[in-house]
Amino acid sequence: MTADPQRSKALAVIREGRLTLLHVACRQVAHEVDEVIARVQSSRQGGPAYAVDLAGMQWSCTCRAGRGCPHIVAVRLVTGGDVP
Ligand SMILES: [Zn+2]
Repeated sequence: MTADPQRSKALAVIREGRLTLLHVACRQVAHEVDEVIARVQSSRQGGPAYAVDLAGMQWSCTCRAGRGCPHIVAVRLVTGGDVP
């Protein structure tokens, strides 16, 4: 597998149990997720939790990295939003 730092961090988020899915819905197309609300705990002890959501085909995260951050990558991996 190629070394993709965002993906490696995303996998760590999942493995370490730092990702919580609060809401997932497939409204428009069956089996295609189009609404997600999730929370990702920072890897730092006592660090902040980031809110990740998908709405209107746009992913967003409250961390400073913004779009393309490992938190969004992790949530896309577990919700199937990563499938082309
Ligand atoms: Zn983020």
